[in-house]
Amino acid sequence: MRIDVLTLFPEMLEGVFGASILGKARDKGIVSLNAVNFRDYANNKHNTVDDYPYGGGGGMVLKPEPLFAAVEDTITEGGRPPRVILMCPQGESFTQRKAEELAKEEHLIFVCGHYEGYDERIREHLVTDELSIGDYVLTGGELPAMVVVDSVVRLLPGVLGNENSAVTDSFSTGLLEYPHYTRPAVFRDWEVPEVLLSGHHANVEAWRREQSLQRTLQRRPELLETAELTAKERIWLSKLKEQGGMGNQPAKKQGSTD
Ligand code: SAM
Repeated sequence: MRIDVLTLFPEMLEGVFGASILGKARDKGIVSLNAVNFRDYANNKHNTVDDYPYGGGGGMVLKPEPLFAAVEDTITEGGRPPRVILMCPQGESFTQRKAEELAKEEHLIFVCGHYEGYDERIREHLVTDELSIGDYVLTGGELPAMVVVDSVVRLLPGVLGNENSAVTDSFSTGLLEYPHYTRPAVFRDWEVPEVLLSGHHANVEAWRREQSLQRTLQRRPELLETAELTAKERIWLSKLKEQGGMGNQPAKKQGSTD
């Protein structure tokens, strides 16, 4: 896969692209990760990429010419057309499903904004997708683009050591993942659940599925509406709900005193 991130701050991306799993994926040739400074495509002598908004008001607006030129220069002839993804708080909410969809592409181009906004013609005529990483506003699109790139690249075949680990991740299964434990079996009097020490694979799997369902019910009940569940699991969950028996406590909220 080829990924180009169009930005005014390529130095922000280089550390992330060169480190850890992304760095290894790049070294192995599974993905080519490029930070492209779209200021290099400015068509004026001061290299400006933004201008005042028509109609007045505060903030600067990214001009269309440099971004169109940078995207067009990045596209190679012959392959499948790239997905051109505008990072923007007004976009579609980014999800694991979207990461899985993007991981099937050959070429992704991310456009990172800065300042007040983009000239609307960029949205209308250049991009194929608009993505938001959440209902809050950051200063620029670089951090959001890195979030999306990381979640997509880890899904590419050969990137993660254990091929199964992305498959059982939270959201990939439609549920939150079950709890994990490692050695020691007892730490400060807190014991690892006995079933995990039993070596009985079927029982371990059943316990994990149950924990996964229970945790999803506690923390993200809306996910259960679309998750693939057996009839038995649905009955078990509705009984659990009726009893208010949520088992383990949900993640502590900020400010919680217990
Ligand atoms: N005025 C814009 C608005 O209200 O929608 C916000 C602009 S923001 C200060 C600058 C840039 O940061 C955006 O163009 C986008 O690239 C990026 N950005 C900020 N928050 C984001 C989010 N939640 N998801 C994705 N990109 C975001």
